[in-house]
Amino acid sequence: MMLYNSTRNKNTTLSPSQAILKGLSDDGGLFVPEKIPVMDRKIDELKELTYRELAYEVMKLWFDDFTEEELKKCIDSAYDDKFDTPEIAPLAYSGGAYYLELYHGKTIAFKDMALSILPYLMTTSARKNNVEDEIVILTATSGDTGKAALAGFADVKGTRIIVFYPKDGVSPIQKLQMVTQEGDNTLVVGVDGNFDDCQTGVKRIFNDEDFKAEILKKGYRLSSANSINIGRLVPQIVYYFYAYLKLLKNEKLVTGDKINVCVPTGNFGNILAAYYAKNMGLPIDKLICASNDNKVLFDFFNSGVYDRNREFILTASPSMDILISSNLERLLYHIAGNDPEKTAKLMKDLSEGGKYEITDDMKKNLESFMAGYASQEETFKEIKRVFTDTGYVLDTHTAVASSVVCALKGKHQELFNKPVVIASTASPFKFAKSVMYAINGREDEKDDFYYVDELASKGNLVIPEAVNGIRNAAVRHRMTIAADEMKKAVTDFLK
Ligand SMILES: *Cc1c(COP(=O)(O)O)cnc(C)c1O
Repeated sequence: MMLYNSTRNKNTTLSPSQAILKGLSDDGGLFVPEKIPVMDRKIDELKELTYRELAYEVMKLWFDDFTEEELKKCIDSAYDDKFDTPEIAPLAYSGGAYYLELYHGKTIAFKDMALSILPYLMTTSARKNNVEDEIVILTATSGDTGKAALAGFADVKGTRIIVFYPKDGVSPIQKLQMVTQEGDNTLVVGVDGNFDDCQTGVKRIFNDEDFKAEILKKGYRLSSANSINIGRLVPQIVYYFYAYLKLLKNEKLVTGDKINVCVPTGNFGNILAAYYAKNMGLPIDKLICASNDNKVLFDFFNSGVYDRNREFILTASPSMDILISSNLERLLYHIAGNDPEKTAKLMKDLSEGGKYEITDDMKKNLESFMAGYASQEETFKEIKRVFTDTGYVLDTHTAVASSVVCALKGKHQELFNKPVVIASTASPFKFAKSVMYAINGREDEKDDFYYVDELASKGNLVIPEAVNGIRNAAVRHRMTIAADEMKKAVTDFLK
């Protein structure tokens, strides 16, 4: 059986389902595979598989304590007509690059790829480990994760989900998406405070052992849906295989040819999934990490120094506005030769001084990575360029990656002897105002739906149901509370 260790401690070993249930190790580390599994079938044999069939071939290697029936049920429950295309993750070609569209799920951002299956992986894991408690997901959100988690867990038996968002800190569309959420097991609460207040409140509840014991007596077990759970990471490996096989099938590649992958990065989950795909044997050459103005990762890949002591910049690609990329810890562990002591030391440096430096040996193991960044201005220019040249519309996050790829063309022509696949992480409709600003070159002070309509007509695009559906949807969640009332809100909901 596959075993999972903590990145900070050798002695923790869990089964796949235990690691999914637990989320984060007690020592603060993340769960990593003892050994990265290798794809046991020839790439050629996978060419004709559907997304779901392929998902099974990849995920069964990581979650090998699930039976075939259990895992297939999770996959079938997740990747169904919630997605607006049976392809699930279509590959679009535009202006010299391939865009792997990961935004065809319910909330039109790539987080749906993992959060649509996580609830099923969790409830199955609970059953396998004879846990009969109801799983209560607590999430603090700055916008995107909350809605994707709500959509994933709504009406999933054996679960409840509570989302806290900063009352005045999310966009009008993001707020509407959340407060109109259906499902009797959902609760959405506006907090009088900022995102940090929400996050701190949630962490405080998680660390409150008395409170956890008290609700456990009533049959409730707290868990988290954020991106450090291995159950969120593994489903993301699948679409890199899918993209490669699509290129193979369409004869853009012959077996064994390599591709390059570029990922707009925040918490380092998506690009880490590509790294795992490569280590499973998928022919990927370079992994290109793209950052926005918060370019802490760009600096890290170029210098070996990670330094979060810098100004936090609010950008038009908010899901990448992050100064601590949690999943990078998993990469550090692997490039240190699966060494928990070295990893724990670096994480200690990070929490104490906000900074660490990796050794020369570790640096050598980063050779498959490249990094780039795009400023806000470059990002807007890229949206405009691609739209003008090809009519294809990028969202603000994808445009960061696209701009980085475009800039590399000047310096590293060799990259373009192979197909470059760009992870396209959100629908432009999710960030319609910024996208139209980029295309029009000016900002009028209209409401968000004005730009949605303008985008549909100028881009000749159909407005996704995720946006259209909330125009007139009933508001179901009106609760707002002070930051110190979060625990009470949880207690009341569990009565
Ligand atoms: C979350 C998110 C990202 C960043 O992905 P990570 O896995 O955190 O690196 C990029 N783009 C969008 C639209 C996102 O929602």
